[in-house]
Amino acid sequence: MRTIPPGLLRPLQHLTKLPTIKEPPISEEVYSSLEPFLRLFLAGNALHSITSELFELDTLRVLSLRNNKLTQIPPAIRKLTMLQEVNLSVNRLHHLPWELLFLIKKGDLKHLTVRPNPLLQIEDPGTDIAHWHIPSDELKSCIYDGPAPEEAWAPVHVATGPVTRYNAEGVTLDPTDSVSETRVPSLREVSLLSFSRSSYFDLIPDEEMADYPALMLRLLRAAREVRAAGGRSCSVCHRGFVLARTEWIEWWDCSTYENGLKGPRASGELLRPLPFRRFGCSVGCVPGGI
Ligand SMILES: [Zn+2]
Repeated sequence: MRTIPPGLLRPLQHLTKLPTIKEPPISEEVYSSLEPFLRLFLAGNALHSITSELFELDTLRVLSLRNNKLTQIPPAIRKLTMLQEVNLSVNRLHHLPWELLFLIKKGDLKHLTVRPNPLLQIEDPGTDIAHWHIPSDELKSCIYDGPAPEEAWAPVHVATGPVTRYNAEGVTLDPTDSVSETRVPSLREVSLLSFSRSSYFDLIPDEEMADYPALMLRLLRAAREVRAAGGRSCSVCHRGFVLARTEWIEWWDCSTYENGLKGPRASGELLRPLPFRRFGCSVGCVPGGI
């Protein structure tokens, strides 16, 4: 299977769990905890992309996409707030969506399997770092005596890469170009976003769009891609958008969550940072705290 056929996952959105009533009297508790414990195993296919339907399974707890041909995981994975375990190993991923880190920090994600993949390595000579959040000469976690502190479990922000900025048409800006840092979207950005959310948009035939001006055609195609990937939202302010205006890599060590929670980092343990790609909706949405 190279793609997930349309409609295949849709019935799972309406899956309900029936109450198990063993003996009367029926108490109200019988009807509690009726959310299904949904696990989805799509491992060992030849998937090149994931459709938006997957991200509508809001009760999904376990997702395995191991051993496919995925080059990126859409940021819409952020919608799966009940996800506890995800396996993305043996794919073609150079980086991970920052939204996975969001699910670790704000959601329920406890078991992250992402290696092996051709992930960017922080030690590679070509890797550009704009700011180190820990001393760069030793990729070690903090040293402590006695019982491990609570922070020994938490993801550690190791470094942040340089920010790439784009204009409203998606073209990369030169670092010396001056642009307005307003976070207010233009009318065109608002229109594109509403297009990307409209099911009517899917019905416009390609032949009809072929007559549109080249720029409009490119923007509408981008909106259609965003719709197919489940939508996008800013990793800083969470506003929806079609074309990112900023992009950067953050390096975080998540070793305590990799392959399941086992124990806190040992004192002096080497950090193994993972590259998470972040997008901002406006030139004003850039890394904070650096
Ligand atoms: Zn934003």
